Amino acid sequence: MHCLDRSHDPGFKAKAFVRALDVVRAMPPDELAQRAMAGTLTDLDGIGDSSAKVIQQALAGGDVPYLAELEGKTQVPITDAGAVYRQAIKADLHLHSRWSDGGATIESMARTAIGLGHEYMVLTDHSPRLTVAHGLSAERLAEQVADVARLNEQLAPFRILTGIEVDILEDGTLDHGDDVLSQLDVVVASVHSKLRMPEQEMTGRMVRAVASPHVDILGHCTGRMIGKREPSTFDPDYVFAACAQFHTAVEINCRPERLDPPRPLLQMAVEYGCYFAINSDAHATGQLEWQPKGCDRAAEVGVPIERILNTWTADALLRWVAGT
Ligand SMILES: [Zn+2]
Ligand SMILES: [Zn+2]
Repeated sequence: MHCLDRSHDPGFKAKAFVRALDVVRAMPPDELAQRAMAGTLTDLDGIGDSSAKVIQQALAGGDVPYLAELEGKTQVPITDAGAVYRQAIKADLHLHSRWSDGGATIESMARTAIGLGHEYMVLTDHSPRLTVAHGLSAERLAEQVADVARLNEQLAPFRILTGIEVDILEDGTLDHGDDVLSQLDVVVASVHSKLRMPEQEMTGRMVRAVASPHVDILGHCTGRMIGKREPSTFDPDYVFAACAQFHTAVEINCRPERLDPPRPLLQMAVEYGCYFAINSDAHATGQLEWQPKGCDRAAEVGVPIERILNTWTADALLRWVAGT
């Protein structure tokens, strides 16, 4: 499943395998083992011959050729120049959990991040306006913050910093008040609605959000979906000048369908002396492996490594956030 996430594989076999995994996860381990021994796995809805074979191999404890093949085929490629950036990265600063529209628990995301060599991560589920994504109300956010404190005790020295991906509303205000945002370690702010508003209005909307003392990172600034949705239009001179002025980092979003900002805009942001964050925006554990895509782009455009927030330690990041 992790491998299928990172490969973004929409293939039929992948879907069938994911469906089979759902069935397996819902079943008590004893029953699963019994069925594997008796050869009755395929009696279950959603488990075909090839999935049954993979399950039997996995339960037998040996190598599973299908999984080994997936492991090899789904590795996210990276250029030599991009690898220099990837090696410098200590964290992911934009990712989602089941609390909003992610597919994995906070703990699974954290354990995967640890496996990738990260020292910390910022948990940024959605804010309430994004109802389709089960955005977090102030109450649920407070519960989540308490949950994160408990997890941090278990996972130390790894750290989960609290955060949110807060919606930038149409007038440039934010989808949570000062009282809520000031409680969080790091705030990513993103436009998710009315992406087609006229350029001048969009510019004002974004500049207002960027200038907020609570906002630390501007998420996927154009909102484009490659092949599906054009980038929104705004005056990048104003927006990036504001990012530099108000110490709001420009996100390099690594989702394959976003890769936002496009290169020419990224180049402009570099010229304005902005800070940056290379973020997976992961909604599943495997997607945490997408950072190489952003690293490659950063290398191509020549983003100064020392201006990338996720190459800093958590303490350095928190000091920077406190100073803005
Ligand atoms: Zn977003
Ligand atoms: Zn997001």
